Amino acid sequence: MTTPDSRQHRLSPATIAVAGGRPARTQGAPVNPPVVLSSTYTSTGEPGDDRFYARYDTETWGPLEQTLAALEEATLPALVFSSGMGAIDAVLRLAEPGSAIVAPRHAYLATLTAAREQAAREGSVVREADIADTDAVVAVLAPEGEPAASVLWVESPTNPMLEVADVPALAAAAHEVGALCVVDNTFATPLGQRPLTQGADVVVHSVTKHLAGHSDVVLGAAVTSDGEIRARLHARRTSGGAVPGPFETWLALRGLRTLALRVERSQANALELARRLGDHPLVVAVGHPGLPTHPQHERAARLMDGFGSILTLRPAGGTAAAEALSRAVEVWLPATSLGGVESSLERRRRLAAEAPTVPEDLLRLSVGVEDVEDLWIDLDRALRATAAG
Ligand SMILES: *Cc1c(COP(=O)(O)O)cnc(C)c1O
Repeated sequence: MTTPDSRQHRLSPATIAVAGGRPARTQGAPVNPPVVLSSTYTSTGEPGDDRFYARYDTETWGPLEQTLAALEEATLPALVFSSGMGAIDAVLRLAEPGSAIVAPRHAYLATLTAAREQAAREGSVVREADIADTDAVVAVLAPEGEPAASVLWVESPTNPMLEVADVPALAAAAHEVGALCVVDNTFATPLGQRPLTQGADVVVHSVTKHLAGHSDVVLGAAVTSDGEIRARLHARRTSGGAVPGPFETWLALRGLRTLALRVERSQANALELARRLGDHPLVVAVGHPGLPTHPQHERAARLMDGFGSILTLRPAGGTAAAEALSRAVEVWLPATSLGGVESSLERRRRLAAEAPTVPEDLLRLSVGVEDVEDLWIDLDRALRATAAG
C-alpha cells in the first residue's frame, strides 16, 4: 500500500484522492486494494502488533485511513468508524469529566445531543455559542467560576446555518485555556479546508457525505497528528465497537477517488443557483458562503478554497411553502443527508431535535453534479407551483 509522495512538491488533494491507498506496484499486483472478509487472524501467544481480531484492525481500513490522513495533511493514519457519529462519539470522549464542551449552537444536531448526553453522564456542561462570533466563543471557553472547556468543538460551515468559523483564531484560543480544538470538516471537505494545518488537534468527518459521495454508505473518520490522542481514539473504537465493515470501507475509498471532480462541479452549481435564487421573486432568503451578502463571506474567501455545495433557501409562503416545495420538486430529491452526486433538499425543522433558532421554513439544499440548468428549471417550476397553491 503506497501513497505517492513526490520529493519535489506536495501532491494536491485532487491527486491524493486518486492516488492514495493503492497496493504496492509489484508485477501483477491489483490497482485497487482487496476486500478482505475475515473476522480473525491466525495468531498464537501474546498478541503483539500483528493483526489479531478485526475489531482492532483490518487490512481493508488501511488504504482509506492512509488516504484520508494524506488529504488532511496528518502525520498519522486516520481512524475509520462505522458512522460519522461513531467517530464523533469517540472524539467527544476526549473531553475531561467535570469540564465544559464548547460547541456551535448550530452544530449538527446529533453532535449536540451526544455532547449533552455525555456531559450529563460525566458532570460536565455543554456551552453553546455562535461559532462565527470568535469573541463570543472565547468568552465562554473559561468564564470565571465555571468549569473551563477541555474541548472546543468547531463545525465550519455549520449544518444547516452555514456559519463560517475563524478556525485558526479559535484553535489558538482553545489552546490558551488548555482545551483541544476539534473541527467537523464534513461540509468543507479537505479540498475546502484542512483544519489540522490551521491549528486544530482533531478533524472528524461524516464520510457518508461528500467523501463517499454516492449516498450508498454510512461511515465516519477521525484524523489527528497527535499519537496520544490517536491511541485514545483507537482504544475507544476497539472498546465501543463502532467499526466499519470491509465492503463499506472499500465503497468509501471508491467514492473518494472522484472527490475533486464532484466538489468542483457541485460547488460551481451551488454558487450559480445561489446567485439566481437571490433574484427569484418567490424566494425570501438565500444563504451561501459564496454570496457577498453572507455575513462571513470575506472570512470564507480568506480561509477556504471554494465555498461548498450546500445552500439554504427560505421560500415565500413560509413553512407550508417549504413543505410543498419539497413535494413539488422532481429532479431534486426530498431527503435528509447531503454530499451525494444527486441534489437533495430538506426542511430541517421537520426534525424535532433541530435547534429552535433554525427558521421553521428553512430548506437545506445539497447541490449535486447534475446539469445546473436542469436543477434551476426544476426549482423554479416547483417554486411557482408552490406559490400557485
Ligand atoms: C451527517 C453529519 C454527521 C453525522 O454523520 P453520520 O455519518 O450520519 O453518522 C456529523 N456531522 C455533520 C456535519 C454531518 O452533516
